Amino acid sequence: MAASLAVASHCPYCALQCGMSITVGEDRPIQVEPRQFPTNGGGMCQKGWTSASLLTTPDRLTEPLVRDARGRLVPVGWDVALDRIAAALISTQAAHGSDAVAVFGGGGLTNEKAYALGKFARAVLRTSRIDYNGRFCMSSAAAAANASLGLDRGLPFPLVDLGGADAVLLLGSNLAETMPPAVQHLAEVRRKGGLVVVDPRRSATASLTGDPVAGVDGGGRGTDGAHLQPLPGTDLALLLGLIHVVLIDGLADAEYLASRTRGAEELRRSVVSWWPERVATVTGVPANAIRRTARLLAAAAPVHGGRGAYILTGRGVEQSVQGTATVTAAINLALVLGLVGRVGSGYGAITGQGNGQGGREHGQKSDQLPGYRSISDAAARAHVAGVWGIDPDDLPGPGVPAVQLLRELGTPTGPRALLVHGSNLLVSAPASGSLADRLRALDLLVVCDVVPSETAQLADVVLPVTQWAEEEGTMTSLEGRVIRRRLAVEPPSEVRSELWVLAELAARLGSPVRFDTDAATVFDELARASAGGRADYAGLSHRRLDDDEAASGPGFFWPVPDPDHPGTPRMFLDSFPTPDGRARLVAVEHHGPDEAVRDDAPIHLVTGRVLQHYQSGAQTRRVAELSSAVPEAFVEIHPVLALRLGVQDGDLVRLTSSRGWVQGRARWTDRIRPDTVFMPFHFTGLGSVNRVTNDATDPISGMPEFKVCAVEVARAVEVATADREEVRA
Ligand code: SF4
Repeated sequence: MAASLAVASHCPYCALQCGMSITVGEDRPIQVEPRQFPTNGGGMCQKGWTSASLLTTPDRLTEPLVRDARGRLVPVGWDVALDRIAAALISTQAAHGSDAVAVFGGGGLTNEKAYALGKFARAVLRTSRIDYNGRFCMSSAAAAANASLGLDRGLPFPLVDLGGADAVLLLGSNLAETMPPAVQHLAEVRRKGGLVVVDPRRSATASLTGDPVAGVDGGGRGTDGAHLQPLPGTDLALLLGLIHVVLIDGLADAEYLASRTRGAEELRRSVVSWWPERVATVTGVPANAIRRTARLLAAAAPVHGGRGAYILTGRGVEQSVQGTATVTAAINLALVLGLVGRVGSGYGAITGQGNGQGGREHGQKSDQLPGYRSISDAAARAHVAGVWGIDPDDLPGPGVPAVQLLRELGTPTGPRALLVHGSNLLVSAPASGSLADRLRALDLLVVCDVVPSETAQLADVVLPVTQWAEEEGTMTSLEGRVIRRRLAVEPPSEVRSELWVLAELAARLGSPVRFDTDAATVFDELARASAGGRADYAGLSHRRLDDDEAASGPGFFWPVPDPDHPGTPRMFLDSFPTPDGRARLVAVEHHGPDEAVRDDAPIHLVTGRVLQHYQSGAQTRRVAELSSAVPEAFVEIHPVLALRLGVQDGDLVRLTSSRGWVQGRARWTDRIRPDTVFMPFHFTGLGSVNRVTNDATDPISGMPEFKVCAVEVARAVEVATADREEVRA
């Protein structure tokens, strides 16, 4: 029997980064199995269990492709592909300036690749036009945490800490479907009846609050907690009501407010008018449920003798034009209860993408340099330029957030060339119907990917790059824990790492800036570049991470400023990284979503995820078990609404917004409000819901309002041929 080798690594998908073993034997298929790791406790979801299929998917990109004169993507050698890219980049920048070339990264790239990509954009291309798809995921939570707490680390505590709390308020996160193994950490709080889920749908996560308790006080009370079902786009008003009850009913931690925060009086004034009955008229959540939730959280807070409480936010409340304000209110609530910076309590944002945390720390974001440094800060520029061996004055300034960057593509003053790494924009960007035209208007579109995604199919050059089990590197999980990704399988012979691609391009562009291709060496450079920054990795190396894991150590949570530092699992215990060491209570106002329902679009549309698919579905739609389980888009609709519209269960329905239309099969369910429909966003073509979502953005974070827009819902008897052609085009 042939020998097999088990390699300890992590799942390729979400930010839970479940520990897994990848076993490669000569006489059997590649196998993956969960292994013990604190976030997954030996569990894995269906996506993880089937992830080995990604390594053998039939349409895996295995050689560079270049579009020929007849418009076909044809295989070429690497020299041809890279020479073509370099020539086009040089001529584009010569004609239109440095910012005529843009770079779009991804939250699934390893820390090393994210770092190298940011360095390539700033030090080689000298373009300010770089951003990434994390702008669609984490930017509102990041902006709020930076302003209120002085630092953004998704969970500033280990996930396992949730197990000791008496109450958890979960706003806009469906983690029972997106990261099912995480549910184990809620078992104890559910047993105590302390889980409160805020979601317009009775999602799988909302169902964790248990069977409804009859009568009493209504408002979604269940055996294991409560489910609050606000009108889409009103989460902020609900939070203002909760803060109102805490402050007005004397439930706040007065000593904590006095010693660890600033702004309590302004906050009190800002929420005075948000009494529960008023909040109920705005949100639809009963006033008694608002009072009950506030008192539940207060009773769990240490100041009242509780064992602790957590307030957690997800994309459901963050992907909004008031996403930053909503997260700010969630942090305010945690602060008035005295939760943040206390062991066993806190506030956190649940990061979505596999490296959504590390991806935003090391230079892909339009306004940031490695180590979570501001690109506008002179000292930060000097430090990073020193590591890169360039003059700080040669670094560009801040660029623009993703949605604005995408709007500028191919316009007379916008970028003429775009390099895309690990992102399937045509499915994942808001108002994506018009994006294809802007991508086609470019002089050069280059896509680095593993499979021919919808975006890759539009490219002028497609470069096949390594994926998860074919590469070395690091990821940073939703807790800020830096973990190792390890090579278990040799990639196809003509597939290359993006580290190699960027080094080759830098050389062809005549840059003197050095680019290493060994991931451990790149990490060492990243560590130096991050030294002294907010996300300080200076004390880490691949070797240190490997040695710790071999010794069954606890791993390392950043910041880790020197090689003897043990890491920082829990943050803010003594002070906040603000000028005076105190957190900021920032007063915010509720204005509602960008788009109100109206006569020609009277229904709210909310979007989200299903268990079997990940992000744009470019990977999971290629896994047979997953695509057969959920093969196409669907529309959840309440039977009351469906009957009013003449829609039967299983009918095709068309959703039309001011940006276009989309359609899917109706699924009757009483798990959604009768004024709202739901559609998952993992699908393409006629079922690609981001064709209709709103690209209005949060004024602070630049995050688009994926989560709610106004639509007309109608039965679609058949799809006209002309409509199909419109979508294909
Ligand atoms: S997708 Fe997320 S929850 Fe599922 S196995 Fe992978 S890391 Fe774990």
